[in-house]
Amino acid sequence: MPADIGTTADVVVIGAGACGLVAALRAKAAGAEVIVLERDASPSGSTAMSSGFVPAPATRFQLARGIDDDTPQRLAADIMAKSQGKSESHLVKLASETIGPALEWLADRFGIDWIVLDDFLYPGHSRHRMHAVPEKTGEALLARFLAASQAAEIPVVTDACVIRLFEGKGRRIDAVEVERPDGAREVIGCGALVLACNGYGGNPDLVRRYIPEIAGGPYFGHAGNQGDAVLWGEALGARLEHLSGYQGHGSLAHPQGILISWALMMEGGIQVNTEGRRFSNENGGYSEQAVEILAQPGGVAWNLYDRRIHDFALSFPDYRQAVQAGAIRETADVAGLAKVTGLPERALAETLSEAAELQAGRAVDRFGRDFTVKPALAPPFHAVKVTGALFHTQGGLMIDEGARVVDQAGLAFPNLFAGGGAACGVSGPSVSGYLSGNGLLTAIAFGFIAGASAGVTASER
Ligand SMILES: Cc1cc2nc3c(=O)[nH]c(=O)nc-3n(C[C@H](O)[C@H](O)[C@H](O)COP(=O)(O)OP(=O)(O)OC[C@H]3O[C@@H](n4cnc5c(N)ncnc54)[C@H](O)[C@@H]3O)c2cc1C
Repeated sequence: MPADIGTTADVVVIGAGACGLVAALRAKAAGAEVIVLERDASPSGSTAMSSGFVPAPATRFQLARGIDDDTPQRLAADIMAKSQGKSESHLVKLASETIGPALEWLADRFGIDWIVLDDFLYPGHSRHRMHAVPEKTGEALLARFLAASQAAEIPVVTDACVIRLFEGKGRRIDAVEVERPDGAREVIGCGALVLACNGYGGNPDLVRRYIPEIAGGPYFGHAGNQGDAVLWGEALGARLEHLSGYQGHGSLAHPQGILISWALMMEGGIQVNTEGRRFSNENGGYSEQAVEILAQPGGVAWNLYDRRIHDFALSFPDYRQAVQAGAIRETADVAGLAKVTGLPERALAETLSEAAELQAGRAVDRFGRDFTVKPALAPPFHAVKVTGALFHTQGGLMIDEGARVVDQAGLAFPNLFAGGGAACGVSGPSVSGYLSGNGLLTAIAFGFIAGASAGVTASER
């Protein structure tokens, strides 16, 4: 136990993103005194950068929209199918069973108003189950969690970067050391510690070590996520899993760096390379598409779609931002499309007529996409240049059913918990295992469990 402990809290949470704030709310509800430590001057994390879409089955919000046949088992099956059975099954079960009750608890306790996005399906989801706050942004989602924390009188201490954990007797974590921007340091004691400081997307060395295939692409997550949980876990002898797993995204407007919703592809859009040719099944998944695009000439592609899809996409705030930034081109015909994109006209014409044949069911796609489920693309056309990016990492600390961090032998550390990007996720060991929403799913569900367990653990000291 360090001698110079200043403040002490029952539960200390590192990181003020979705995971940390939900954990804090739950720990507080369990009767614990909680402090959240956040390295930034103002909390944002990857949570505020996200689209804020959270998959959850069997919620009352779904029922209100007439979706009455979704279950945790169905979500678990979809998650497992996407990772080809390579996700950790106890984590999949835990997340699938917890997320619905967690969203309802947040609504009941803090008035967080969830809507269900039921106008399109993300790849791999068999039911409409994406929940969001009405603004449909991660920024608005984080603002709700921060307001709830304020209402619950939970101190969120900013400019507080945790640089060290103190391990005491019986492998308990007794305290953490915090560094302030001016270099001042202080030690804060804890009854239980929740690691909610996400993964290592912002640490190029760790990205090169664990996922070299994406190291050449841009990182579009929160820069402050430096892999501290993984590094501390390594030092403590914790079990780390699926460090090669991550969420990529194959639709980041280039060079503007604005997320272009994958709904464009699910609604009938296509992606072509600078030769004007398709190169993949665009309905396979946006995560793996990051790698496909980075392998194309120049590491870029063009999303091609039409007015119908453009009008639909205008319901997404980031798409409207892309329009304002001048990233979206519109043109009357194929000749114009070639002009505004700089792509070869003949190849473009061939690609679009091939897509029309596939849509009419007169040919079979060599990449395996079923075009018949959406209307054919029709002029006027729209186009946006995109690249592939790393959004966040999916590997991390293995946890048990109580979100306790476990060691190599599977034994739990008594008062150390993890969730969100700090913990091993449910996407398996590769980019293609990421089912959309797996990120906030494990941030909120594991944060919910970690907070409850940490609150109880701290009270038993
Ligand atoms: C562009 C984009 C879009 C996305 N869209 C979606 C989506 O729609 N649905 C979905 O499910 N997922 C989405 N994701 C993924 C999702 O954002 C993450 O999985 C989720 O936000 C992780 O939450 P978290 O709480 O674990 O981490 P974060 O929200 O990143 O919070 C971690 C916090 O810890 C702080 N921190 C780090 N180290 C320290 C330290 N040493 N001391 C103190 N504080 C520290 C960070 O500053 C940060 O505030 C998206 C990601 C991106 C980048």
